[in-house]
Amino acid sequence: MNLLAKFDNLKSRLQALAEVGHNPFQIHFEAIHSATIGILDGRETMLFGTNNYLGLTFDPEAVEASCRAVREQGTGTTGSRVANGSYASHGALEAELATFFGRRHAMVFSTGYQANLGIISTLAGRGDHLILDADSHASIYDGARMGAAEVIRFRHNDPEDLAKRLKRLAGAEGGKLVVVEGIYSMLGDIAPLAELAQAAHENGAALLVDEAHSMGILGAHGRGLAEAVGVEDQVDFVVGTFSKSLGSVGGFCVSDAEDFDLLRLVCRPYMFTASLPPSVIASTRVALARLASDSGLRTRVMANAEHFYTGLHALGFQLGPDVSPVVAVTLETTELAVVFWNALLAAGVYLNLALPPATPTSRPLLRASVSAAHTPAQIDAAIDAYAQVGEQLGVLRVDGRVAAAYAG
Ligand code: PMP
Repeated sequence: MNLLAKFDNLKSRLQALAEVGHNPFQIHFEAIHSATIGILDGRETMLFGTNNYLGLTFDPEAVEASCRAVREQGTGTTGSRVANGSYASHGALEAELATFFGRRHAMVFSTGYQANLGIISTLAGRGDHLILDADSHASIYDGARMGAAEVIRFRHNDPEDLAKRLKRLAGAEGGKLVVVEGIYSMLGDIAPLAELAQAAHENGAALLVDEAHSMGILGAHGRGLAEAVGVEDQVDFVVGTFSKSLGSVGGFCVSDAEDFDLLRLVCRPYMFTASLPPSVIASTRVALARLASDSGLRTRVMANAEHFYTGLHALGFQLGPDVSPVVAVTLETTELAVVFWNALLAAGVYLNLALPPATPTSRPLLRASVSAAHTPAQIDAAIDAYAQVGEQLGVLRVDGRVAAAYAG
């Protein structure tokens, strides 16, 4: 019996991809020189597919703190905090996250994926209702699947649809938890959070916001979309990650909920996995302090986002509806997207290729993410590369506008 036979279709899709050029899902950089430059096939490549929004992966203080932690505390904790105990720095990071978000409690997980998996599956249990935006990240869907709550989806970024579905639950027993994201990871579109929060609270539901892509980007202090639109007091749980703006790995949840700390003893993705190594905690703490104190990083990443978005928009590419550090071009066919992605790579620009069905629009996306560390010259060079490839492939008309066939 071949247990892998069910993936034959995937295998043939991957073979077809390999015939075009690089496999976009198995890129191996030979070296990483900075937040924006890597070496691929012996050549310098500009990194536009990292989520390294603030460019802090090479922050000298964060690197030094990480090295010091390895020397002083070793390479790993080799176990879960529940079984093996926490290091002082785990607690310190949690206290710093709670302070940063102005919340009473914080809980750190080994990844953002596990934070959503753990928090959502634990908060929404049997007899409860979980109401999710239809375009939720896989970690949210997997958290829903792991828990025993009844799952209801509402139309992406549609507060009216959310309200309608919540009203249908009026009088239902059990708790209700609404889950949305700040900036959505594929198209970079931003949730109408004030309206969503109003719908949740008018209908007696708690609200969880995943600020994975908006922490460090939005809000006067970088706390994310809830801060930017002034609804932090209506958000009951904030989930986030260290793997984007903070340049490391790990996840967290902050909340004012009474008894929040009880979750540590019932949340399996927290309990049954090794805690973050001291080196990761150390660099994350430095990056968080930097994020909190240096608003220039946010200004730079948003200026770069505007620059890139405006440049691609002027060429006529079809982009997401909002300017954010996620800048995604929608193309019409997978075949075109694969060729386009390879041509950009050949031109020295690396970004993410997202193919249906794993895209919100059921169409392929060239998904780029912009960093505060990109220089204006790098962004101009990337825009030029899109323009040249677009023209070579006949995606752009002579006058520089996207051909109607691809404009969607
Ligand atoms: N939430 C969202 C919205 C994400 O996009 C991601 C990662 N892409 C995660 C959670 C998981 O984060 P991590 O990389 O820390 O597992």
